[in-house]
Amino acid sequence: MADGGCAGAVRIAPEAFSRVDEKEVRRLSAEIRTLARERDAVILAHNYQLPEVQEIADIVGDSLGLSVEARECAQSTIVFCGVHFMAESAKILNPGKRVLLPHLAAGCSLADSITPESLEEWKERYPGYTVVTYVNSSAEVKALSDICCTSANAVSVVRSLDTDRILFTPDRNLGRWVARQVPEKEIVIYDGACPTHDVLRGANVRESQRDDPQTIIIAHPECREDVIEMADEVCSTTGMFAAVERHPEAKTFVIATEWALVDRLKRMHPDKEFIVADGCIGCRLHCPYMKMIDLRAVRRSLLEGVFEIEVPEDVRRGACRSLERMLAVPRDR
Ligand code: SF4
Repeated sequence: MADGGCAGAVRIAPEAFSRVDEKEVRRLSAEIRTLARERDAVILAHNYQLPEVQEIADIVGDSLGLSVEARECAQSTIVFCGVHFMAESAKILNPGKRVLLPHLAAGCSLADSITPESLEEWKERYPGYTVVTYVNSSAEVKALSDICCTSANAVSVVRSLDTDRILFTPDRNLGRWVARQVPEKEIVIYDGACPTHDVLRGANVRESQRDDPQTIIIAHPECREDVIEMADEVCSTTGMFAAVERHPEAKTFVIATEWALVDRLKRMHPDKEFIVADGCIGCRLHCPYMKMIDLRAVRRSLLEGVFEIEVPEDVRRGACRSLERMLAVPRDR
């Protein structure tokens, strides 16, 4: 399980990744768009995907938004540019579609931090508690849960429950954030974390802020408590776009989440300065799993129909119940 240290994979500077040159990007992008039309495919991309992958996607968003899109899409194939649990959620919500994940190694260490066995054991220790599971989890874990949540609706999901005793899994930082918003409920929190966000410390954010009190700090709730306490806004990746709009006078923002989202903010607001919170020794927050998918992988996925995601029907039904229950609850804001 990830612990707050500088997890090696997280510290890889994005610049270290080999990227195709601009001409090749244009050629691959055009080929991918043609293939998507020919193969009746919709391309969904998470906000943390490489910028050129976001560019060729039909829809870019956070886990919650992409789940809704996957459930409602008309095309026969969904190419999910994200990580494994996201493609799995698409298959769970829309089992009649062929769901492809362009790189099978695109996993998530937070999702791996809880297994069906550890959840069963935890539930036995807390009988009668309602299990709220972050979507960053396997289909099996979702099937054993009462309801799912994302970082965009976690507070609303917990408030919506007619019970005061909650088991929240697997992200401890998101769980603590929710517990602060809903103090009237007893929330027992599992000890998982996202290494990409958990590596960040308040001291790093303060340094990024450069002693300028006018700088607005926007943090993802997967960050540690000391970061959250400093933040002017705490929200999901998609919520960050709206958060920037709420501060029209501000010139500088420190963004405490994965760098790909910040790249997009810079393109949308060229008149403002966006600083990615510095994880450690000069490296921006970076999710190595999200960067496993590049244009070549997307092209191969469409050409060869790889890698198809399957979920056993009994597991799918249980996980679908938890996801659908979540989708009935509105976003936090
Ligand atoms: S950013 Fe964290 S939670 Fe999201 S996919 Fe990467 S490791 Fe998992």
